[in-house]
Amino acid sequence: MSATTDPIPVRALNQVTYCPRLYFLQYVDCVMPVNEHVEGGLFDHRRVDSGDLKNKTRTDRGTATSRGIALSSEALGISGILDVIEEKNGEQYPVETKHGKAPHDDDGKPTIWDNDAVQLCAQALLMEEAFGQPVPRGYQFHAGSRERVPLEFTDALRQKTQAAITRCRELQVLDAPPEPLPAELRHRCFGCSLASVCQPEEILYQIGHPNPADADAPSAKTLPDVRLVIPRSDNGAVLYLQEPGSSVGKRSEHLVIKKDGKEMNRVPLHAVRQVVVCGNVQVSTQALETMAENEIGVSYVTGHGRFIGSFVPAPAKNVSLREAQFRKFSDPAACLELSKSVVRAKLANQRTLLMRTLRGEEEARGSHEPAAKGIYGLLAGLDRVTSVESVLGTEGQGAALYFGEFGRFLKQPPTGKGFDFTTRNRRPPRDPVNALLSFAYAMLAKDCFAAVCTVGFDPYKGFFHQGRHGKPSLALDLMEEFRPVIADSVVLTLINNESLTPADFIIWRDACNLTDAGRKAFFAAYEQRKSAEVTHPVYGYRMSYARMLEVQARMLAAFVRGEIPTYTGFMVR
Ligand code: SF4
Repeated sequence: MSATTDPIPVRALNQVTYCPRLYFLQYVDCVMPVNEHVEGGLFDHRRVDSGDLKNKTRTDRGTATSRGIALSSEALGISGILDVIEEKNGEQYPVETKHGKAPHDDDGKPTIWDNDAVQLCAQALLMEEAFGQPVPRGYQFHAGSRERVPLEFTDALRQKTQAAITRCRELQVLDAPPEPLPAELRHRCFGCSLASVCQPEEILYQIGHPNPADADAPSAKTLPDVRLVIPRSDNGAVLYLQEPGSSVGKRSEHLVIKKDGKEMNRVPLHAVRQVVVCGNVQVSTQALETMAENEIGVSYVTGHGRFIGSFVPAPAKNVSLREAQFRKFSDPAACLELSKSVVRAKLANQRTLLMRTLRGEEEARGSHEPAAKGIYGLLAGLDRVTSVESVLGTEGQGAALYFGEFGRFLKQPPTGKGFDFTTRNRRPPRDPVNALLSFAYAMLAKDCFAAVCTVGFDPYKGFFHQGRHGKPSLALDLMEEFRPVIADSVVLTLINNESLTPADFIIWRDACNLTDAGRKAFFAAYEQRKSAEVTHPVYGYRMSYARMLEVQARMLAAFVRGEIPTYTGFMVR
């Protein structure tokens, strides 16, 4: 990548001093998630950022205060909007507001963090150039403790600020972010707004442990002690809209669902993470716009389980990842390696589900089943496969073995009025079990689509499902390893717990569909499955399946950019 000549924001100098990787993710990749620390900062700046006060000067008891002053310097290569410039007794100085309490030194005196000092010093350099007079000191106001801490702009601090500018320019030309912070600075990661994107512990663990887990999942003893710095599960709910003829609008900070002019439901926007529209439901432009602004994706699926597409916020701006993606996925060796990883995980998960479901009383694991042995043989042979087409062939053989036994996974109720499964069929599915499987795969596809978009990939360029025109190939690739453990598992739960009966399906001509009530039960079971927590086979900590999708997509991104040596598919233990 080539360096941009755009001035560097003084805020970025703060970030690069705190953590160079944070600067890269935020200013080169342009990732900008908000956590409570960032939100707190925005709240504390509300007076400074107020349109009424910007660019205005007020004088009170001999001190002139100007707020929101924009300054830029070509010579320094930086720019910034200064919170406050005060002038008293002929001396001008910057005053920066920070969220939280002031740190204290060993003598108990309030002080300023290094990264904040660099930002304040950069403001002073801008002022010196703009106003032509020295700025020897400034102040930082800590809103949390309401302390105003002075800072001298020493030569050492000025040099450090110049070094931060140089470091930003160096980082701008990298194709991938620098390594996460070393162990002695790792405490900074726990308050970092980009921890879930950066995944510091996971990246460092993989750099030190290049071998992927093999097909048989590792035992608990071999799992690493990777500290979890990201949330275990996602906040907010998935809102499913399927009432035919209903419409969704926006009123204040709520989504309002109406039918025949009557309000059916009202949901606060902050409580929603994703919206799924199934069938004939209208979503207003205002509602779509607001959801895009709030980074709430909207996915569309048909009534018989075909994922149509998603309305997602403007793609993440990290062009460098998409460039790396196109490079990597044009390399046959890399595509083969990745295809083997996802198919290895899929086969291992199919085998695990099969053994768990079919194990007899006398057999602890169910590994005596011929299909389990057959899949084991396919796993053993996978390493010797030399083309993506052959991996597809292996995957197809595994599917034949697995679905050859799938009918035996289904419990028959005492009434005998249960479900049968003989073979997989689709477009359209012709029986209830196939209808459920298709629906579950469509849901999983939309979640994988959301995960790869969140990370910044182009969802249409894959490594395994290549050349499928108009299909989100990468989402389908990521989905492979999760099909048995999320989608198939939901179908089995619904049937074997008798949450659905044949009355929950309609068969018209050759097509079988869920009824509205059946879909409602399906959505509940699907969300419940996604919120179930499992142990990550490589990192060793627990998280929800919903979070696991994103973690895997981020591991893939790290592999694509060359940050880690291998991608390992998700395998249940
Ligand atoms: S999580 Fe840690 S290593 Fe990653 S960007 Fe934030 S501070 Fe840097």
